[in-house]
Amino acid sequence: MTAALIGQDLATPSISRDQALRFITCPDRELPALLAAARAAKEKFKPRVITYSRKVFLPLTNLCRDYCGYCTFRRDPGDPGAHTMNPDEVLAVAREGEKLGCTEALFSLGDKPELLFPQMRDTMRHLGYKSTLHYLEAMCELVLRETTLLPHPNPGLLSAEWIARLSTVSPSMGLMLESTNRELLNPGAAHDNAPDKLPAKRLRTIEEAGKQRVPFTTGLLIGIGETMTDRVDTLLAILDLHRRYGHIQEVIIQNFRAKPGIPMAHSPEPTLGEMLRTIAVARLLMPIVNIQAPPNLNAPYYEELLDAGINDWGGISPLTPDYINPEKPWPHLEQLRRRTEAKGFQLRQRLPVYPEFLHSAISKSPLLSDRLRSARDHEGLAIIPRAA
Ligand code: SF4
Repeated sequence: MTAALIGQDLATPSISRDQALRFITCPDRELPALLAAARAAKEKFKPRVITYSRKVFLPLTNLCRDYCGYCTFRRDPGDPGAHTMNPDEVLAVAREGEKLGCTEALFSLGDKPELLFPQMRDTMRHLGYKSTLHYLEAMCELVLRETTLLPHPNPGLLSAEWIARLSTVSPSMGLMLESTNRELLNPGAAHDNAPDKLPAKRLRTIEEAGKQRVPFTTGLLIGIGETMTDRVDTLLAILDLHRRYGHIQEVIIQNFRAKPGIPMAHSPEPTLGEMLRTIAVARLLMPIVNIQAPPNLNAPYYEELLDAGINDWGGISPLTPDYINPEKPWPHLEQLRRRTEAKGFQLRQRLPVYPEFLHSAISKSPLLSDRLRSARDHEGLAIIPRAA
């Protein structure tokens, strides 16, 4: 692969599957040219700025009916640390985040735990809700009414009805596609006891969000047993949905990190080279889409991620830990700013909905419209609250 060839590839809006497969497996000597092409594509379509979302992390419940081989977040009822937040806890964290200039309330939770656990059904009954999704909807609305934070829920698979309901109380939502490889559900693989990780079901949720014009976050989890071809095909599945509905507001490239106590504790982690190739190919396949990689899972290689063509650092919290990867602290925001600027970019705080998708979110409900109009600046990014 030569720089000239990559330059030629960039003349088209997106590289082909064959090119993507070639680039994602390129030898080390060709990596600098791939990264240069990806960064050029980023600068052409997303010039000068790198964004992040200042957030609080609200683990509404860590009970989950799935058992993914890499997950340290989930608990069964009665496990140490099993917890469902009550409304007072939700509001207390959101208010604390508001004081620290946060603009996103990220709701993370296990997928429909009440279907497996009677204890969760009791908890919901006690709180006065029919299901975890009813409770999530109420908590999104509570945060929206009582604070300046904007909710971004990640509740797992959603029906058309629930996408519609949640879209009136949150300007965006998310579901990681992770991988289109169905073999990850085979015995002994990462998703062998995770029925909600069936790729077809996840694609259906993302497609339904597209039909309803809901700004949507998705992405890949790399290093969970998939092949390089799977990575390309997963990116292409996302691109296909985005071409049909135009609603993919960002694509996250997340790398598996091994942790003690999980079934995949001894599985190999993807290398930095794999991560950079995947990000670069994502950028070249989807030059105009926002591409994100989590800095805390890739420390200290921030500069390299920027070189591979990301334009967003994702959610970063000055208050709450990353409950999904608690052993990996968020970077200090000032350090992230310094290092982003040293690479020639401006670091800007965005809302949980990207500027180009604000119009879709604003149309969803009067309450959301009101909150978004107060939270955005003239470029559609976050107005930095005075308390920050
Ligand atoms: S990754 Fe998500 S769906 Fe899988 S076990 Fe953890 S919380 Fe449940």
